[in-house]
Amino acid sequence: MTLRLYDTAARAVRDFVPLTPGKASLYLCGATVQAPPHIGHIRSGVVFDLLTRWLRASGYQVTFCRNVTDIDDKIIRVAAGEGVPWWQVAQRNERAFARAYAVLGCVPPDVEPRATGHVPEMITLMRRLIEGGHAYPADGDVYFDVHSYPGYGALSGQRLEHMRAAEDTETPDAKRDPRDFSLWKGAKPGEPSWETPWGPGRPGWHLECSAMATKYLGPVFDIHGGGLDLIFPHHENEIAQSRAAGDEFARYWLHNGLVGVSGEKMSKSLGNSLLVDAMVTQVRPVELRYYLGSAHYRSGLEYSAEALDEAVAAYRRIENFVIRAAEVTGPAPARDLVPPAFAGALDDDLSVPQALAVLHETVRAGNNALAAADTAAAATRLAEVRAMLGVLGLDPLAEPWADAGSGDDLRTVVDALVGVALAQRQAARERKDYAAADAIRDGLQEAGVVIEDTPQGPRWELKR
Ligand SMILES: [Zn+2]
Repeated sequence: MTLRLYDTAARAVRDFVPLTPGKASLYLCGATVQAPPHIGHIRSGVVFDLLTRWLRASGYQVTFCRNVTDIDDKIIRVAAGEGVPWWQVAQRNERAFARAYAVLGCVPPDVEPRATGHVPEMITLMRRLIEGGHAYPADGDVYFDVHSYPGYGALSGQRLEHMRAAEDTETPDAKRDPRDFSLWKGAKPGEPSWETPWGPGRPGWHLECSAMATKYLGPVFDIHGGGLDLIFPHHENEIAQSRAAGDEFARYWLHNGLVGVSGEKMSKSLGNSLLVDAMVTQVRPVELRYYLGSAHYRSGLEYSAEALDEAVAAYRRIENFVIRAAEVTGPAPARDLVPPAFAGALDDDLSVPQALAVLHETVRAGNNALAAADTAAAATRLAEVRAMLGVLGLDPLAEPWADAGSGDDLRTVVDALVGVALAQRQAARERKDYAAADAIRDGLQEAGVVIEDTPQGPRWELKR
């Protein structure tokens, strides 16, 4: 089965046929770094991390570009409020995003360009558009002429005559048509600016992405991704700029659903307690990753503490099996090959819920094998489970989770101490002194050590 993806531009699921066989290029609209990320911001990072992992697992050589929008009205406003330079706000929040991507186990992109580092490329693109009659300078700004590109509105399914004015300038009278959008914003006193042939100013958001995607991935590339809220105007305008300039641009448009809180799109006020930095103090990062990635990427994700708890419990069931099975069978190196049903689910527009159903089914079979002391079957199930978890970036025995707080030296010591206590308990049982045996178990429990009797003998783990 080949990979099929829902293409927003085609409004259909299409076979993924890359531009170059065996290769896949992907551009993802990254963070506008005006604030640290909450889980609504970071979901697209996790979703597209899953996509790149699956593309790689399927044998594609992937080039993944995710930009940083480091200049923007909001960044300037936050900096003015704090009385610090714009770049301090941008850098601080860029680091917060980098931390969040890393803590959730997202593989870094191959390139992470910043908008302010690509002004020459933007000037070149504007020049091409102006020379081609698709853009015009006016009052220090540069605008895109939406009438000059017949396909305008196609991505978002709108007709030009029904569109509202683009509210992206304080000087709307300079526009030929209120729906024309800014490519470049003329400098204002006290604001950062860069020189161009049309005067000093700063980039418009849409222009940045067209310029950076083309620079790193070429005039035509495979997949452009982002949140559903970016379809209009951002992605509509990216297409208009790039296609009007003569570039074919992205061949597939993928959009992830948004994270909501009780039916609302997550706003900053609602989102404070849902900052990634705060969330990972409540649940382990791997559990948060499982939660954010477990819904279908095109569905909305309605945040609730209960839903998060369920995800945590579900992940722990998987993790429990992996750890217990690895103790019995050895860690069985993860196989490259995942079960066909799992592959089929991910090939079907990245259907993670179906893929997780296969994973949980395999865990159940593995637990049954452990209960029946069928070591060979347990080893096979463990290898399958680890292969699937590897694709999902959730294998507790692999990087980056394997070393998280394991304290290997201490574990060896505790292992030995628990072994002594368990031998004492066994001896107490053999002389039918059940009170003493229970007291040993209770003492361990109080110390946070949970003992479980299994067909392979007693095992322990720390209470979570
Ligand atoms: Zn973008």
